[in-house]
Amino acid sequence: MPDPNVPDIGPSPSPDPSRAAGGLRVTVDLNRCQAYAQCCYAAPDHFTLHGAEALHYDPAPTAAARDAIERARVSCPIQAILVEDAGSGHP
Ligand code: SF4
Repeated sequence: MPDPNVPDIGPSPSPDPSRAAGGLRVTVDLNRCQAYAQCCYAAPDHFTLHGAEALHYDPAPTAAARDAIERARVSCPIQAILVEDAGSGHP
């Protein structure tokens, strides 16, 4: 059951444990996202815009995607992208 004190800010990470090993957990605050698409240019395999405002993203990329995901994170002009290690929950 979802925690009513935690806002729903995007899809949950993949439950596939093989992806979680050494992988990342990405969360985008879709309430803040303004669809600037900078993340889509920085990491097109992991962030895409559908229509004018619907951002789709990979919530559980592998560790190999770390550089691309980090480029996307720093490119976001409103810092809406949170990146953590999937195993530890630490950035
Ligand atoms: S760069 Fe930031 S504001 Fe722009 S689409 Fe990506 S997450 Fe949203």
